[in-house]
Amino acid sequence: MARYTGASCRLCRRQGEKLFLKGERCYTDKCAVSRRQYAPGQHGQSKKKLSEYGVQLREKQKAKRFYGVLESQFRKYFEMAAKTKGMTGENLLKILETRLDNVVYRLGFARSRSEARQLVRHGHFNVNARKVDIPSYVMRPNDLIEVREGSKEDEVFKEVLDATGSKVVPAWLSADHENLKGTVLAMPAREDVDVPVQEHMIVELYSK
Ligand code: SF4
Repeated sequence: MARYTGASCRLCRRQGEKLFLKGERCYTDKCAVSRRQYAPGQHGQSKKKLSEYGVQLREKQKAKRFYGVLESQFRKYFEMAAKTKGMTGENLLKILETRLDNVVYRLGFARSRSEARQLVRHGHFNVNARKVDIPSYVMRPNDLIEVREGSKEDEVFKEVLDATGSKVVPAWLSADHENLKGTVLAMPAREDVDVPVQEHMIVELYSK
């Protein structure tokens, strides 16, 4: 599947804010947004005011980059959200939150969403006792996720839990770090989604 393979920090600098794409580094003074507060490229330092369309577009790009989703898939999620009962923008965020790679990250089994995506692709997780290696797999309430037996001793999970052990797991999930498993307790509510995205702007953009 196609995916963005360029420099993650460049995406944050283009966005003009931290998107936390690199785990621990994002919280240090090595963060590129802290060091260079202007967009990348030759004209990165020239200031120009964004149009209404530009602001909406940037908001959509932000959501896509936070969750590591490409345009075609993001568009499909939007269409799914529009067909679901309730507010389209909120539905969109809920679908993005319940992707398997995001759930792995939220449970603290990865330091970033990109690391979660890689761990899922490498087949380290079972969902409801069956191996699932598709990062976009959408989790549902009562789904049980666990690190597969053969991966439990993998050094990467010791390193990850050392880094994320004190991380707060959102209320819609429950984590058992000792046994490397977790459960989806419910669908996330809007207030559970701490990604700073104004979803109504994405709805406005796609409704043009
Ligand atoms: Fe973004 Fe993290 Fe890179 Fe900072 S270190 S620019 S937050 S990916």
